[in-house]
Amino acid sequence: TQDFAARVGRVEPSATLAISNKAAELEAQGVDVVDLSVGEPDFDTPENIKDAAKEALDAGHTGYTPTSGIPELKSAIAEKLHDDGLTQYDEDNLMVTPGGKQALYEIFQTLIDDGDEVVLLDPAWVSYEAMVKLADGSLKRVDTAAHDFQLAGALDDLAETVSDDTELLVVNSPGNPHGAVYTDEALEGVRDLAVEHDFQVISDEIYKEITYDGREATSLGTLDGMEDRTITLNGFSKAYSMTGWRLGYFAGPEELIDEAGKVHGHSVSCAVNFVQHAGVEAIRNTESEVEEMVEAFDERRTFLKDLFEERGVHVPDPQGAFYMMPEVAPDGDDDAWCEEAIEEAHVATVPGHAFGTPGYARISYANSKERLEEAVERLDDVGLL
Ligand code: PLP
Repeated sequence: TQDFAARVGRVEPSATLAISNKAAELEAQGVDVVDLSVGEPDFDTPENIKDAAKEALDAGHTGYTPTSGIPELKSAIAEKLHDDGLTQYDEDNLMVTPGGKQALYEIFQTLIDDGDEVVLLDPAWVSYEAMVKLADGSLKRVDTAAHDFQLAGALDDLAETVSDDTELLVVNSPGNPHGAVYTDEALEGVRDLAVEHDFQVISDEIYKEITYDGREATSLGTLDGMEDRTITLNGFSKAYSMTGWRLGYFAGPEELIDEAGKVHGHSVSCAVNFVQHAGVEAIRNTESEVEEMVEAFDERRTFLKDLFEERGVHVPDPQGAFYMMPEVAPDGDDDAWCEEAIEEAHVATVPGHAFGTPGYARISYANSKERLEEAVERLDDVGLL
C-alpha cells in the first residue's frame, strides 16, 4: 500500500458527510428521507446577490484578485465589523477566503504546530478537531452539556483546563451544533482567562446574524483586552444562504494576516473574483432578506422544539443558528438512536458524540414545517421519542 502522510492518518472523514451519504443512498433506492442532518439554509441565494455576480462576470471580473481580497469587499467588511463594534480591524487586518472553512484552516496552519495546545468547547463543530490535527496540534476539550450548552456554567471547568501552555481557544457563538448564544458574562470569563494565560481566541461568528428572541451575539473582540487577542471569523454561507459560493474571511492582527497570507497565497491564491463582487452586494444590500430568513427559522425553531418537548424530550434552548440538540438518548447511545432514526424512520440526524457530546442528536431545522412535523411523527411512530 501507498505510504500516506501521517497528517491524513490523524483525521476521520466528516461525520456529517457520512450521514448525508447514507441519506442519499436511501433516496437513490426511492426511499423518502427527511434529511435534518445538513448544515445549510434551505433558501436560495437572494436575487440581488446573484445579479451582482452576473454583472461582475459581464464586466470581466474573472481574473485573479489581490491575495487578501478586492478593496471594495474589504472596505465593506471593515464597515460591517466597525458597525458590530470591532473598530480595531481595518482593511489591513482582513483576509478574504474561499469560505469560512478555509479561513479556519489558514489560522490553524499559521498558529499551530508541534503539539501546540488548542482548547475546544464541546459540543464543537467537527472540523475544528480535524484542522487542529492536520496542523499537528494537541486538543483539550471542555464539555458544556451539563449546563445546557451555556459556557457561563462551564467557566470553572474552562479555568481548570487552560494553562500557560494553551495557545488557542475556539469560541463559536451562536454555535454549531449547540445553537447556544454565549452571555456577556461568559465571554468576560473567557477574556479574563485569555489575559491571565496569554492565549489567543478564535471567535467563529459565522452564525452571528442568526439569533432569536431579540438576543444579539456579542463579538468577543469588542471586549476590553480582547482587541488584539481575538481572531474574528465570518462567512457568507449561512447569513446570506451562499454555501456553494465559497466566501468567508477572518480579521486579526496585521502580523497574523501577513503570515497567513503565505498559506493563502501558496494554496488558493485568492477567493473567486466575481464571487467577491457579489459579496459586496450581500453585505451592503441584503438586510431585509436576511431578516426574512431568520424569521422563517425562528418559526420552525419554536414549532420543532414544542414537538419534542410535548413528547418529553429535553431540548436545551436553541438561541441562534439553525440547529437544536434534543437529548434523545439520555443513556448515552446516540449512535444507536441516529442509526435507528435513519434506518427505521428515514429521518437523518447527526449523533452528538460526533461533536463530543453523547446522548444528544443534532437536528437542523433548515427545513419546512411540514417536513419537520413529518420527521417527529415518524420518530414517534417507531418508538424513538
Ligand atoms: N464554522 C462553523 C461553526 C460552521 O458550522 C461552518 C459550516 O458548516 C463553517 C465555519 C464554515 O462554513 P463555510 O466554509 O461554508 O463558510
